[in-house]
Amino acid sequence: MDLSNPSKFSIEFFPPRTAVGETKLDTVHTELCKLNPDFFSVTYGAGGSTKSGTRQIVLRYQAAGSELAPHLSFGGADEDELKQLLQTYIDAGIKRLVALRGDLPSGMGASVQHRYANELVEFIRAQTGDHFHIDVACYPEIHPESKNYVADVEFFKRKVDAGANSAITQYFYNPDAYFRFADYCAEAGIKIPIVPGIMPITNYANLARFSANCGAEIPRWLEKRLQGFGDDVEGLRNFGIDVVTELCEDLLQGGAPGLHFYSMNLSNSVSQIWTNLDLNNRSQNELA
Ligand code: FAD
Repeated sequence: MDLSNPSKFSIEFFPPRTAVGETKLDTVHTELCKLNPDFFSVTYGAGGSTKSGTRQIVLRYQAAGSELAPHLSFGGADEDELKQLLQTYIDAGIKRLVALRGDLPSGMGASVQHRYANELVEFIRAQTGDHFHIDVACYPEIHPESKNYVADVEFFKRKVDAGANSAITQYFYNPDAYFRFADYCAEAGIKIPIVPGIMPITNYANLARFSANCGAEIPRWLEKRLQGFGDDVEGLRNFGIDVVTELCEDLLQGGAPGLHFYSMNLSNSVSQIWTNLDLNNRSQNELA
């Protein structure tokens, strides 16, 4: 893997929908700043619901001294709207974006045309040259709409050829899925860093629902263990921290160029896993 511009360790938020959620996220952000991540990213609702929320959170936390990476997709936006948003981000000192096709809320599919992420990467490069470091998404267990593995990697490569600098994966709990995918991508000529996306385990029902939608597999042994916790929230969370710490350790030992944590706007599990792994003291050389 090319480690010349590694992503290292980052944390993702989603824009809260309520004032209470925002206040909570401010506390979580403050807490997670103590970990000194390389950047925080903020998701973007391709259907339009959280677009302004993304911008607000990004600008606020960037102004507070964090490095922010807004997620972005065409969604229903026209190109002028997107150009304006890119300029807003440039003016705010944002240097990094996560470019996606996005998922539209059900019911919007017919009214909004999907534009694939490679087109967005091309658009951003055409408008802003090399200003932004662009991350894209990729799927070690394959995107749910994909015909097959080969086609999915070909489409991933289009995003790289369009100018993506690094990629963040969908979450997974089987490290082999990641290593096989990284090897296959390398054979296919994809040389950018592929950073594993990491989902802490805090709630079994939510995780099962989410995983079914996004095509992430919960291995049977893990599913059965998680089901066994029933209402024991604390027990499940602690078990989840151990499992995910071990997963991250395997990934880093195996050469993964960083980790991107899907925080779900919660700080406890991310902080604990980060501390278990001693991420702030792991040098890039050690990871190479
Ligand atoms: P693409 O790379 O465009 O691919 C989408 C699908 O189409 C794939 O099956 C691909 O194989 C196929 N494909 C690609 N190009 C072509 C083509 N030219 N012709 C035919 N088929 C093609 N969703 C949100 O709504 N907001 C977010 O902020 C968000 N953040 C995410 C962050 C990460 C790190 C990840 C992994 C996912 C995120 N998602 C987000 C979910 C993501 O938007 C969905 O998985 C979406 O369905 C695909 O987005 P993409 O950018 O990977 O799409």
